[in-house]
Amino acid sequence: MKTHSFIYPFLALLLLGYARQAGLHTHEKDVAQCVNNLEIIGDSLKTYERDHGAYPKRLQQLVPEYLSELPSCPQAGRETYSEGFETRVDDWFMQVGCTTHPYPSQTACSDRIADLVKPLKRLRNEQGRAPHSLLELNLDRDAIGCPETGERFHYRTGFRVPVIACEGSYHVKAGSPADFPRFDLLHGVVEK
Ligand SMILES: [Zn+2]
Ligand SMILES: [Zn+2]
Repeated sequence: MKTHSFIYPFLALLLLGYARQAGLHTHEKDVAQCVNNLEIIGDSLKTYERDHGAYPKRLQQLVPEYLSELPSCPQAGRETYSEGFETRVDDWFMQVGCTTHPYPSQTACSDRIADLVKPLKRLRNEQGRAPHSLLELNLDRDAIGCPETGERFHYRTGFRVPVIACEGSYHVKAGSPADFPRFDLLHGVVEK
């Protein structure tokens, strides 16, 4: 019994090492690693934005303060993310809130804001883009403001969204189209 207690963990380690080695170069593993890279870069972009109030123009600006270097796509064997990096304006995403009650779940604000969701989405679908202002809804003053302060809800659209992708056709064998996986801050990681 005494020897067993030594042998088993050792054997398990060997088997584990073998399994990792054998699976290391599958295409799916490469996608997972590439997705992981995108998440790391995405986190750095968020931190950069918090510090600077805007996203960098080039990913290289993250180095070395936010990342020691840009990670490499395991399939490409090089860094594939900076080439196609862009910040696009998303005119579909909308945000409504009360300045006085930033967490309005416990207040009467939440009902009013919830009532705005339907008309906002309807107008957006009609126009093909989010309204520029709550005034476009043509509702009563009361309907678009805080019931406590009367102040109009703040409304935002046109968010700048950084988009990072593995540029190229490196993951087609894993079923991903060219320039995937891809990451943006509104939708997260999309593999295909
Ligand atoms: Zn990749
Ligand atoms: Zn309020």
